[in-house]
Amino acid sequence: MAKLTVSDLDLEGKKVLMRVDFNVPIKDGVIGNDNRIVAALPTIKYVIEHGGKAILLSHLGRIKKEEDKPALSMRPVAERLSNLLNKPVTFVPTTEGKQLEDAIDGLSNGDVLVMENTRYEDVKNGENVKRESGNDPELGKYWASLGDVFVNDAFGTAHRSHASNVGIASNMAQTAAGFLMEKEITFIGGAVDNPEHPFVAILGGAKVSDKIGVIDNLLAKADKILIGGGMTYTFYAAKGMKIGNSLVEKDKIDLAKEILDKAGDKLVLPSDSVVAEKFDNDAAHKTVDGDIPDGYMALDIGPKSVAEFEDVLKSAKTVVWNGPMGVFEMSNYAEGTLEIGKFLGTLTEAKTIVGGGDSTAAVQQLGVADKLSHISTGGGASLEYLEGKTLPGIAAISDK
Ligand code: AMP
Repeated sequence: MAKLTVSDLDLEGKKVLMRVDFNVPIKDGVIGNDNRIVAALPTIKYVIEHGGKAILLSHLGRIKKEEDKPALSMRPVAERLSNLLNKPVTFVPTTEGKQLEDAIDGLSNGDVLVMENTRYEDVKNGENVKRESGNDPELGKYWASLGDVFVNDAFGTAHRSHASNVGIASNMAQTAAGFLMEKEITFIGGAVDNPEHPFVAILGGAKVSDKIGVIDNLLAKADKILIGGGMTYTFYAAKGMKIGNSLVEKDKIDLAKEILDKAGDKLVLPSDSVVAEKFDNDAAHKTVDGDIPDGYMALDIGPKSVAEFEDVLKSAKTVVWNGPMGVFEMSNYAEGTLEIGKFLGTLTEAKTIVGGGDSTAAVQQLGVADKLSHISTGGGASLEYLEGKTLPGIAAISDK
């Protein structure tokens, strides 16, 4: 069923609690990259332009002890948000109590308030009580009492049941998705539940064990699954091929055999690889077909595989990509990943969805990100979504 979104709400004069993802890299109080704050702007602007009082909650980093708190204060984030919105933003340096309640009472329509890091609640009086991360029922209830409606725009935490997403939602009459969340549900949820065919998944990265849930779920839904990256060679081993010194998960070879049997020709392995003598960008390297020779490790898919993958992709209507095709951090083994990213940028007739840190970095580096339909904002959340799991943060959003 379709989910309620922020544009379905009457916001005028309402205290709008908003769970956003302001979990930005921060060092010595300096924000390294404000992409996540920028990404939250459309929903925040929509709320204030429609007369809502925006009360923003987010986590920032992990807090395990009192001493972790000062470096993970939300204050610099509130300041950056104020610059980006070009208007004052009230920062409240606490997560509960009179100071917070008074500040909320003092808001006028269209004002913006940023509360202190929700994970300050994980440590109280020096004790690691995990009130936020453990979804303490009292905390969710308390935060919910501070607003009239709740908007959840933090997809990155949707796979977790925390007080600031699930806890608030379960104490609120109405919870709506923000625009970022809505886009994740439309594209990733859409691909998993109701893809337009042909549906092709490209799965890479180091380990079979990390992607097994996704492979399993997508085998039932996709028309083809293209495999790349380090996990290829566990599949090679399962087929009795030679893998040289390539990455392999020995305890997953039987599982890989089962997948291969089940998948038939749905699963496509690379037919050639770039192999090197050492795990080093400057090591002697060459391209080989099939078996990986002794003394070599496979670090990228080869040009023949790229062409074969492109041949499958060119007629796709839905494409999901997660994980690099090789050791993309080293320029000599980045070609496979970059070529696939570039090709996705040419697929104007398909819904193209990218998730995961490395594949996202690849399409950004190539400058093709804006040619794709959707770049997911959540790593762990997007993987669990692709695994077909119910994400508690999304389940807690009201149906339309
Ligand atoms: P993941 O986090 O599972 O998406 O895996 C990403 C990591 O897999 C990157 O750091 C890549 O360098 C690594 N990787 C990709 N292909 C290979 C390969 N053939 N051998 C070793 N590591 C690889």
